[in-house]
Amino acid sequence: VPHFAFAQSPLDRMANSRTNSEVLQNLMENPHARWVKIHGDGVQMQTGTLDLARLPQGGESIFLGCDDTDYPWFAVAVEASEAIAPLRGLMIDAVLPPETLSILAQARSLVHWHVSHQFCARCGAKSQMSDAGYRRHCTACNSDHFPRTDPVVIMAVCHGKRMLLGRQKPWPEGMYSALAGFLEPGETIEAGVRREVMEEVGIRLGKIDYVASQPWPFPASLMIGMIGEAIDTQLTIDENELETARWFEADEVRMMMAGTHPDKLSASRPDAIAWHLVKAALENIGG
Ligand SMILES: [Zn+2]
Repeated sequence: VPHFAFAQSPLDRMANSRTNSEVLQNLMENPHARWVKIHGDGVQMQTGTLDLARLPQGGESIFLGCDDTDYPWFAVAVEASEAIAPLRGLMIDAVLPPETLSILAQARSLVHWHVSHQFCARCGAKSQMSDAGYRRHCTACNSDHFPRTDPVVIMAVCHGKRMLLGRQKPWPEGMYSALAGFLEPGETIEAGVRREVMEEVGIRLGKIDYVASQPWPFPASLMIGMIGEAIDTQLTIDENELETARWFEADEVRMMMAGTHPDKLSASRPDAIAWHLVKAALENIGG
């Protein structure tokens, strides 16, 4: 089981139940049913923990699945209030168990899709939630619309015993991490990795390996973690994408991860798949 955030959902999504109104009705009437209340990138709290109380009549519930005690979980969009806590903060402060945080990732991404896709992309008419939240149907033009997941490739690039890391301007001072970018339509994961690394730092890659993936609900990304072997080492940095990038010796990366770097340089946070990618890449290069 991966230790980064959002990747440890305990839910059985029970996709076959989404179109069965009788089963869904029973799940909603289950006295143990939990309702996650989402607003923007935040979730409603009550006295330091999640507010999971039953939703009053009228809200549109998205079925998330059943946990290992067979309690059904639902998500619903709510209005802004002081009880809303940002998901990012809950992750960083480790307020909730990793399993719960993973459920919230699913809830936040799905609620965001519904809130921002109220109208049919084809004809502009108001569409209706369907399949317990996994489809929107437009009766005006009889079209169906499905929730989005936006794939992002993120890669630790190595050459011999060195690793290539970059940093973006908004990041905390001294933090370096793996390069990343959105996949484009019609592109394989491998082609996306090669293109992004060429665009951002002008490096050609040889061998590419998949490591792991992480849902990243800001708002609906899937981080696809890869390790790539560089063919050349001369960097041409795209300064629109990166503040800087450079090669690090394995020893230096290890100090960055341990928080003992003499110049106070750091790797990303352990919540992020980037940290685990860098760790896996270090093991690969015998660091
Ligand atoms: Zn339509």
